[in-house]
Amino acid sequence: MTDTRAAADAVARALADALALIIPVECAGCGAADVALCGRCRRELVPRPRDWRTPGGVAVHAGLTLDGVAARAMRVLKGEGRTGIARVFAPALRAAASALDPPRDALFAPIPTSADAYRRRGYRVPDLVAARAGLPVRRLLRIRRSAADQRGLGREARRDNVAGSLRADGVAGARVVIVDDVVTTGATLDEAARAVRAAGGVVAGAVVVAATPRRDAATPRRDAADGAARTGLRQGDEGPVTWRIRA
Ligand SMILES: [Zn+2]
Repeated sequence: MTDTRAAADAVARALADALALIIPVECAGCGAADVALCGRCRRELVPRPRDWRTPGGVAVHAGLTLDGVAARAMRVLKGEGRTGIARVFAPALRAAASALDPPRDALFAPIPTSADAYRRRGYRVPDLVAARAGLPVRRLLRIRRSAADQRGLGREARRDNVAGSLRADGVAGARVVIVDDVVTTGATLDEAARAVRAAGGVVAGAVVVAATPRRDAATPRRDAADGAARTGLRQGDEGPVTWRIRA
């Protein structure tokens, strides 16, 4: 990262933090007044690590399930500029990292934020949570060509959409842990793993703040971009189904 870019990142973060101080807050989990996250919602974010393998075989550890309070607070963090909320997700990412227990010399590489999302937010969500969690992330993954927005795409479409979209620098001979905020189908993590291996690195696994819950085959998807919501689940879009819940 260049110094200029690092400085710009720091300014954007400071600005967002300053705005959070002058704009009245409400609980990111339930909307209660005058508190960034109320005690009840805070308890909902106590890490409950789960692990799973992506379709490409990358071991993923998640600190939380992305539902209820976690899903609402993640929307606030990603969509409303409330960078302070990154702190409440730090224990989840730390728990995921301890569960993975990577080699001591492993490098933590966040999934890069698209230029569009960075312009919109002024910060990178995985990097922000990782910094709060004390994980020494390095921006070793870069966007080679921009993929379309993944929202509303099924598993196969996501895989095709991200194929070849990332490259990795400075990972030759290194063991790399991929870091992201949310995992849905694992397509982005698989693409990151491909990029790391193509650059001579070894993938030690992935850690994410939260994983989308198992989608019940009987439940139609309501966020589908096309008409599939009317007819129920699309082929190959069942999401992660074999998560193992840890005590
Ligand atoms: Zn609350």
